[in-house]
Amino acid sequence: MSVANQLYQLQEVDLAIESNEQALSQIASQLGESAAVIRAQTELTLERQRLEELRHQQRSTEWEIDDLSNKTSATEDKLYGGQIGNPKELANLQHEVEILKASRDQLEDKALAIMEQVELTTAGVASKSSELKTIEAEWRDQQQQLSSDMEQLKTILSELNHRRQLLLAKIDPQAVELYNELKKQKGTAVARVEQGICCGCRISLPTTELQRARSDSLVRCSSCGRILFLA
Ligand SMILES: [Zn+2]
Repeated sequence: MSVANQLYQLQEVDLAIESNEQALSQIASQLGESAAVIRAQTELTLERQRLEELRHQQRSTEWEIDDLSNKTSATEDKLYGGQIGNPKELANLQHEVEILKASRDQLEDKALAIMEQVELTTAGVASKSSELKTIEAEWRDQQQQLSSDMEQLKTILSELNHRRQLLLAKIDPQAVELYNELKKQKGTAVARVEQGICCGCRISLPTTELQRARSDSLVRCSSCGRILFLA
């Protein structure tokens, strides 16, 4: 096998290593915490807090209603108890009872509105909780898939690196040095020649250059400097 061919093989392996490493780091960035799961968790927590608050409001409104009911009964007892004869005092008590009843009506409306909110929020907590479960399950599946993809890529990479070592052992060290230098400068060191054209720079090669490249020697493109490889 010509040196150019050996270097071309090396380049193929290097490109494969590069693309597998990119895929691997992309997977690594997707592993771990999920923004969607965190968002769903936060939403559920907020909805639960809201429910807690509403229940607290519900309880204190019920207590207020009880309190007003007790006061109303006590005032009515005084009003209809027969102990008080003074018409002015009775009228005052009557007025007081009316005010107490009006306040209680208002509170009962409020309690009803809170109850509706409690029902809605309870349903909200249930739906957000099941949403979170779905998102978490999807995320677990995805993580499992990513982990298995990662293992596969690692196996491929270790095979590629092994192949690279085997290739390197066979190639003249000076040629490898040139390859590394060109790779650093141009990204790719070896250019295929197709129909007399260097695939590195798309320039048509002189016949003499082609002939030299065809004989086993290491020839570089006179235009871009890459090592020419004739398949
Ligand atoms: Zn070229």
